[in-house]
Amino acid sequence: YDTQLPIPDKPQEVKDLTNEFNQLLRQLNQQAIRDRQFVSDASHELRTPITAIRGHVQFIQRHGQDHPEIVERSVGFIDSESKRMQKLVESLLRLSRMDNLKVKREKVEVRQLTEMILETYQESIPQKLVIIGASKLYLVVNRDNLEQILVALLNNASKYSDKSTTITVNLTEHAIEVIDQGQGVPDEDKTEIFERFYRVDKARTQKIPGTGLGLAIVKKLADLNQIKIQVVDNKPQGSKFILIFK
Ligand code: ADP
Repeated sequence: YDTQLPIPDKPQEVKDLTNEFNQLLRQLNQQAIRDRQFVSDASHELRTPITAIRGHVQFIQRHGQDHPEIVERSVGFIDSESKRMQKLVESLLRLSRMDNLKVKREKVEVRQLTEMILETYQESIPQKLVIIGASKLYLVVNRDNLEQILVALLNNASKYSDKSTTITVNLTEHAIEVIDQGQGVPDEDKTEIFERFYRVDKARTQKIPGTGLGLAIVKKLADLNQIKIQVVDNKPQGSKFILIFK
């Protein structure tokens, strides 16, 4: 803040400055509300696994000595719940670190990068992965960020689709599309899924593991690289996540 504003002397200037000041105050207020909401959401998300872990610890304390099978079962729960917590905390940290991140952009050969990602990733998922479209595509982005975005989108495509389906990455001149044949995203959720902690009801009821932070991280990474992201339906079934390069 090394530049100082001159003190205005004309009434119109005073009016303009007051308006600007009020707008700034409104923005600060909204940010404060969002921050509070975030802390409250994060605490709520952490409380669920903590409650479950404490419950199982008490169970072991009460019945563990006489019932070894209870110990085994409860330890299993504690293990998976603590892993969930760990993932959540890691995602939260990643999100908060991104707030003041500056990205270094470089020329990336996208086809090559995508082929490498798919090759590595194919081993860990049952769906078939294919690339179509442009054979050479250069973009100026942060390579690591683009890799993280693609892996997160592929991960979701796999989580929310049947095992026997195909996931396609389509490379066009101005966009990368990750297309699946899964359950799709209902219209009313299409913008909200990019918000922190938001999960479509179906994902919750089907008990597909997740934190609701994956796409919030993707959105932030996309913003940092001036990439627009949107989701549309894939016909006849599934969803298409489109990364548009400006
Ligand atoms: P998570 O997968 O951990 O719940 P995300 O932020 O990655 O969190 O995604 C938010 C929600 O968007 C998911 O819970 C799911 O309901 C929906 N979603 C994301 N990707 C897909 C997809 N490829 N197909 C259908 N639904 C999806």
